[in-house]
This record gives sequence, structure tokens and C-alpha cells, in this order.
Amino acid sequence: MFGQSQDADMTDTWWLYLWVVPVGLVVGSFLNVCVFRLPAGQSIITPRSQCPTCHKPIAWFDNIPVLSYIWLGRRCRQCQASISLRYPIIELMNGLGYVGVFATFGWTLTAGVYAIFFSALLVVAWIDFDHLIIPDVISLPGIVIGLVAAATVLPIGLVNAVIGVLLGGGILWALAILSPYMFGKEGLGGGDIKLLAMIGAFMGWQPVLLTLMLASVFGAVVGIALLVFKVMERGHYIPFGPFLVFGALVSLFFHDDLVQWYFKAMW
Ligand SMILES: [Zn+2]
Repeated sequence: MFGQSQDADMTDTWWLYLWVVPVGLVVGSFLNVCVFRLPAGQSIITPRSQCPTCHKPIAWFDNIPVLSYIWLGRRCRQCQASISLRYPIIELMNGLGYVGVFATFGWTLTAGVYAIFFSALLVVAWIDFDHLIIPDVISLPGIVIGLVAAATVLPIGLVNAVIGVLLGGGILWALAILSPYMFGKEGLGGGDIKLLAMIGAFMGWQPVLLTLMLASVFGAVVGIALLVFKVMERGHYIPFGPFLVFGALVSLFFHDDLVQWYFKAMW
């Protein structure tokens, strides 16, 4: 019902992946720029990509996703400063994500929309991980774009998407209001509320619930592990955004399978 294509025939259309992978990697390269510049309030269009150490512009042939990282020997050509492993990792994550999206939803407009959704989630997760913020410039337009896509392209339909926005935003909003009374401190930020609303806009209300459940469980497990292994001290704040993104991606790729499995196992 959520619209994952069970009969996407990959054997006839394997050659289409010859462009999905490069497109995913190139978009991933742009996502690196977003992760780096959006939290600083800088333009993501200009100036051209530059080395974060020596600020010299990076030539196009040194800016090929993943490959440049390898053939430059992980160093800037001008100043020899080492290039963060994160750049090729984000590019590869986006490339793999696009393969996953098209393998799940087939060669459809729906897959195109979910590819954009996937990229937005990737940027959100990394920015929240770095800075403990989820930029409104992604989540707020994301809610609008998700609703428009649901009304036109996505099989979930507009009503489902609107309920998803209200439910996703509503649950976290209520928790944010209550958590200072329940836990004695603020647990959730406004960014998390808007992010789950955006996830609802793109996926509808049932995946929102699955997303929140997975994010809470996984977040608790990781949080406890960090305390036990003394990586983190009590009272420190872990960003919830990356866990919401994790939950949303599991929901995106496996929602229907998980629901089927759940009902088979329980009833
Ligand atoms: Zn440099």
C-alpha cells in the first residue's frame, strides 16, 4: 500500500544503473557542499568548491566523486592538506542510496522523488551529527515538496501525506512540550519536529510511526552503549536527527516487508 514496487524487474533494466550510480555520486558531491555550507549560512551555489585549508578553488578534474579522492592520494593538490574521508563516504552513501531507491520503486517518478528525499535526509543527518541542528531550509520546503509530490506523483496520496505531517510533527511536538516535565530537561528540538513532519509528507502516516519507533529504539541502544563504554558522559546531548533518518530509510526500503512480517509473526 505504501507503494514499493514488488515486481521491479532488474534483470531487463540493469544497464540503467550505469547512469544511476554516477548521478548518485555527483549529487553526493554536491551534498558535501550542502553539509559544509548550509550550517554556516553560506551559498551552496557560489563560490566554486575550494579546499577548506588553503581556500584555493578545486579544478573540475580534481572534483570527480570518489575517484579524485583516490588519485590525489587523499591530499589537496595545492597545499597537501589531507582531505577528509567523509567526502567519498557521503558520495558513496548517496550513490548506494539511489541504487536502493530505484531497485525498490522501479523506474518510476516515485523513485525520482524518493531519490531527492534520500539526499535531503542524508544532508540532514550529517548536519545534525556535526552541529546539533536541522536546518529549516531543508525541512520546511521539504514538507511542501513532499505534500505536492504526494498529491501528484507518489502512490500514498495527499490525505495520507497530510495525516503523516500532522502525526509526525504532532507526536514530537507533544513530546517536546512534555519532556521537560517527564525527564527534567529538554529532549527534543524544533528541528526534530519539522523533520518528522517532512518524513510524514513524503511517506504517509504508517511509516512515520515505524520511523519514530525505530529511531527511539536505536537511539536508546546507542545512547546506553555510549554511556556504558564511557564515550559520552551522562547529561550530554545526542542528536536525534540521524536516528530519525535511519528510521525513515529503513521504513522507506522495508516498510511493507516489516509490516507483513509483523502481522505474520503476531497473528
Ligand atoms: Zn588546499
